[in-house]
Amino acid sequence: MDTDVLVVGAGPTGLMLANQLVRRGVRVLIIDRHAGPTLETRALGVQARTLEIYAKLSIVDRALELGKIGTGANIWAQGRKMARVPLGDAGKYITPYPFILILGQDDNERIMAEKLSDLGVSVQWNTELVSLAQQTGQVTATLKTPDGGTRKLVAAWVGGCDGAHSSVRQLNGITFPGAPYEHVFFIADTEATGSMVPDEVNVYLWQKGFHLLFPMRGKNHWRIVGILPPALRDKKDADFEAVIPSLGNAAGAGLAIKTCTWFSTYRIHHRSASRFHDRRCFLLGDAAHIHSPVGAQGMNTGLQDAYNLAWKLALVVKGQAEAALLDSYEEERMPVAQRLLHTTDRAFRLVVSESWLAGLLRTKVLARIAAFAMSVERVQMVAFRTISQTGIHYRNSTLSESLQGLPNSAPRAGDRFPWLRLKFRTDGSVEDLFQKLDDTRFNLIVIGQPAPLKEALGDVASSYPATPQF
Ligand SMILES: Cc1cc2nc3c(=O)[nH]c(=O)nc-3n(C[C@H](O)[C@H](O)[C@H](O)COP(=O)(O)OP(=O)(O)OC[C@H]3O[C@@H](n4cnc5c(N)ncnc54)[C@H](O)[C@@H]3O)c2cc1C
Repeated sequence: MDTDVLVVGAGPTGLMLANQLVRRGVRVLIIDRHAGPTLETRALGVQARTLEIYAKLSIVDRALELGKIGTGANIWAQGRKMARVPLGDAGKYITPYPFILILGQDDNERIMAEKLSDLGVSVQWNTELVSLAQQTGQVTATLKTPDGGTRKLVAAWVGGCDGAHSSVRQLNGITFPGAPYEHVFFIADTEATGSMVPDEVNVYLWQKGFHLLFPMRGKNHWRIVGILPPALRDKKDADFEAVIPSLGNAAGAGLAIKTCTWFSTYRIHHRSASRFHDRRCFLLGDAAHIHSPVGAQGMNTGLQDAYNLAWKLALVVKGQAEAALLDSYEEERMPVAQRLLHTTDRAFRLVVSESWLAGLLRTKVLARIAAFAMSVERVQMVAFRTISQTGIHYRNSTLSESLQGLPNSAPRAGDRFPWLRLKFRTDGSVEDLFQKLDDTRFNLIVIGQPAPLKEALGDVASSYPATPQF
């Protein structure tokens, strides 16, 4: 066996999978057909749940240093500010990171690649997966190498993190049902001034569509995302100048654009693979699901796919769990992807519909409902949990079994572990339980009674290195 896991694709998902496997002692080979890392910002929003995972990977400080903290989102309709979603207040008891971090995909990839290199693994660029054969106990992959030749490689498992046109998916005959949207997105990185609330996300709804303005690092730097006006949709050479009039309509005459450093358009699809797993091959990130970028969930969902699969794969590789554990990856992550597809699709259709009625709904009804809803604390919390992805749980997974009769507010098996600050000793100071937990092994938390002796833990302690810590 040449490697335990072949990770195909060094985008954000592949880099996260490789990092999580390597820090758990798994042998990994990560390849990418491109010559080097992406230089495009692409996805921009890093959600709280991802930052919690970054903290465990010891890269959160670097991410916070490079990114810009967005503490709220403002909804504007026809030039008037209608509502504000206060991310900071709504999330301050839920996570140490009650905000959205504005950090480009290129920076996220760079930070993860640096970490991977610290762990002793480098991406093999200019290396493309061209065929796969699944055999009992192994997969033989044929790779196109940088010199133009091919070589065969035998891996125990394959992580398909190879994006929307995934070879791993196609070579396993897994279908990717869904459809393209008729709309074409544009993205522009600009220096601009206007009515935007500084350091916060600004959503401009108007009769004919929407524009999102994300604050970026540096003074007056804004990422503008919107859909191309219908007249420009089929133009191959649509440029930023051509979309400025529609921007003025949405964000008001006060919007002044000084420079535009990057402009790109892309057509989006909504699709989900019919399976996330075929024997020894797994699909993660865009290889498994693609959807509208409304809500800044895409990159985060891929990163969390990787986090979900990695600990399971590590246990199986090390012979500490049966391969059947891996079935729970699809069981847990497919519903997350499908729910996301459904909600982003509905939100997207509402914000892009060109009908007169939809325009009225968007600028009058939707904006007013949002204004009212966001004044209710409970709604703010639900919105925060949804957007930040801290509310995702696997209560229905076959891995989750809770005691009967627990109070409704009690944590359940399958929940994200709640963020708690506790005194570990009666005379001690308050400490952050997240920092104490070691996510590379099982943790036993005993509250209100003496720590059990290791012998009393029986199988748990003998199967896994479960040393009581506090
Ligand atoms: C222009 C643009 C703007 C975007 N803006 C946003 C946004 O604002 N918000 C948002 O959430 N999302 C956005 N996205 C989507 C976001 O970029 C993706 O969700 C994210 O990149 C998915 O990460 P991934 O690692 O799963 O796949 P990718 O980033 O696509 O990475 C896949 C990697 O696999 C490699 N690969 C493919 N096939 C092979 C093969 N056979 N052998 C070896 N390597 C292979 C590719 O070279 C690539 O590096 C945008 C995408 C684009 C193109």
